[in-house]
Amino acid sequence: MEKSQTPHIAILPSPGMGHLIPLAEFAKRLVHRHNFTVTFVVPCDGPPTKAQKSVLDALPTAIDHVFLPPVCFDDLPQGSKIETIISLTVARSLASLRDALSSLASRAKLVGLVVDLFGTDAFDVAKEFNLSNYIFFPSTAMALSLFLYAPELHETVSCEYRDLSDPVTIPGCIPIPGSELLEPVQDRRDEAYKWFLHHARRYRMADGIMVNSFTELERGALKALQEKEPGKPPVYPVGPLVKMEFSVLDDQSSKCLKWLDEQPRSSVLYVSFGSGGTLSYDQINELALGLEMSEQRFLWVVRSPSDKAANATYFTAHSQKDPLKFLPKGFMDRTQGRGLVVPNWAPQAQILSHESTGEFLTHCGWNSSLESIVNGVPLVAWPLYAEQKMNAYMFTKDVKVALRPKPDEYGLVGREEIAMVVQALMEGEEGKRLRNRMKDLKDAGATALSDDGASTKALSDVVTKLKTQISN
Ligand code: UDP
Repeated sequence: MEKSQTPHIAILPSPGMGHLIPLAEFAKRLVHRHNFTVTFVVPCDGPPTKAQKSVLDALPTAIDHVFLPPVCFDDLPQGSKIETIISLTVARSLASLRDALSSLASRAKLVGLVVDLFGTDAFDVAKEFNLSNYIFFPSTAMALSLFLYAPELHETVSCEYRDLSDPVTIPGCIPIPGSELLEPVQDRRDEAYKWFLHHARRYRMADGIMVNSFTELERGALKALQEKEPGKPPVYPVGPLVKMEFSVLDDQSSKCLKWLDEQPRSSVLYVSFGSGGTLSYDQINELALGLEMSEQRFLWVVRSPSDKAANATYFTAHSQKDPLKFLPKGFMDRTQGRGLVVPNWAPQAQILSHESTGEFLTHCGWNSSLESIVNGVPLVAWPLYAEQKMNAYMFTKDVKVALRPKPDEYGLVGREEIAMVVQALMEGEEGKRLRNRMKDLKDAGATALSDDGASTKALSDVVTKLKTQISN
């Protein structure tokens, strides 16, 4: 069979829907705007999940996918953090990645490999095939700036970052308390911190880094990232890339949208903690009673409680037990008509773009945050894990599009606090200011992605570099 001359990119998504979803949008742009073909080479530690398959199966025919053989985790210590598991999934898939790239290279004009934030171990394999190595960073420019600054920070600070008396100044960013930095840096003895540093050091091996953000959202961080420095790869802001095409709806999803159709404009608070976020039993109780007390309309995606970790469903997106059983007695009856509760999963992209949705109580995962921005919906910031506290800090202290409820001395966010914040955002003067600011960001995001917008141009620059490599 003759080899295709269309430039082809391999994309290696590390585990997590929050990594796969924006990479899928990125791949669509490569195909639709630049005539590339793409193959997702997917490492995993078990059979593909329903959520993964639904994203990959819905992609255009120019985007293929192959699941690598699952890696074995029999030796994984109990309590390993998600960053360790994600990194090890990639590191243990390198031999099968080599086979997959070899097969692709025999059939297609393979020019580059794109990995996400925890995929840098694949760079060495890509080099064996003379491929360009790119990182697609599916989070903020602020978090990327921290990754690039981390090796220096590691040398200059000897204590835990959370114990520093002064805030940490990440280049180009608002100074931030150490306790708000991303989760894998919160315990320097943990394997997750070692993996974080390992990847951070390897970022400089990339031929370029694309970040899912845009100038008006993160001007300072992007300016610092784009300052030239020996050994620092060029950084391309290509966002906000979010899920825009809507998937086929199941019964539960149709019910959500139908219910929204019946609500007044901008009146509903949407509550969701992403694909992996879970709350403790006590916290679910307080949240339910806070929503009830707020007297606002709400649509809440509920998962079963987890007292062990705030990211208990990260690798599955679904809880094992019926989540509705854990709601306070009588709650469903008392809020009937005003509130809709759905278990596990809802069609978030459609919900956020629905005109009845007025605010979003979110764990501040970056995809959720961007989906809210492109629809101009202000936030109640409730970060749980990963880099979500950094995102919440940026949204409340810098960009000013979010209110953040305060936990009590035991870490529990009480019902009165929840009700007060939800009401303030929906009805108060400050809420109005945040809403207007969010509308400005929505417009700026749309401009960045327009035909001659900055993010469209940045992606064209990457494509030009890749195509130059072909002709050389
Ligand atoms: N999502 C969804 N329905 C849900 C929960 C999540 O469609 O009930 C999608 C959401 O729209 C987003 C992604 O899953 O695109 C979650 O990514 P994010 O970065 O916000 O958080 P993560 O799940 O990685 O913590």
